[in-house]
Amino acid sequence: MEKKLATGDIQFFPNQTRGNMTNNPEATNFPDLNRRDFLRASTGATLLFAMGGFPDNVRAATVHTLPPLPYAENALVPVISANTVSFHYGKHHKGYVANLNKLVAGTEFADLSLEKIIDATAGQAEKTAIFNNAAQIWNHTFYWRSLKVNGGGAPPAALKQKIEASFGSVDVCKKELVTAATTQFGSGWAWLVLDGDKLKVVKTGNADLPMTKGMKPLLTIDVWEHAYYLDYQNRRADYVNAVLDKLINWDFAAGNLGS
Ligand code: MN
Repeated sequence: MEKKLATGDIQFFPNQTRGNMTNNPEATNFPDLNRRDFLRASTGATLLFAMGGFPDNVRAATVHTLPPLPYAENALVPVISANTVSFHYGKHHKGYVANLNKLVAGTEFADLSLEKIIDATAGQAEKTAIFNNAAQIWNHTFYWRSLKVNGGGAPPAALKQKIEASFGSVDVCKKELVTAATTQFGSGWAWLVLDGDKLKVVKTGNADLPMTKGMKPLLTIDVWEHAYYLDYQNRRADYVNAVLDKLINWDFAAGNLGS
């Protein structure tokens, strides 16, 4: 049975859109063109520029952009070094954006929001590359927001109550996150999710994300080696424990729970 994605509530990075320039070299002047046409809001987060008056082969297209980091690259020191953030955000996250834009140009996915691309390509073997890059953009944006300076500590009251109802205590929840993060074989993600009316900890491999299983993510920890290897080498558990104690953004999770 097919489950609906639960991405709708968590649209924190509006896609910027502009003209598809691949078919018309003159369109590279787009920023100077008269944007007299109209802006159409789609899903409340995606703006599509409709470029009336242009040749038919210059279609409006979604251009996915790298969302800004919510803090400076060195803000997570000493738990995560500026060097790690610089590569992780500036190379890996950015790379997924560049790849996705190349992969969807001129395809049926060119005009879709990130969430819709993920929805449309999940579980389809022939669309794996598009899904992987789209999901990795989404996952990383969600990961950066799952961390904050002076994070860790106790969750806000409403989230704490929900955690206690689902796990017994915040400590048990954190232990389950550590277990998920350290037992994910190879690359992937550990997540706190809302599944029905219960909180759960789940892990996903590679680019996969809880929405493909109908669950709503509240926070995530990236356990791809690029997330920690420069700082912790093979000690994934040390990275995960330090993140949970010092950086995890319970406020972000609480906000996602309440939305
Ligand atoms: Mn990563």
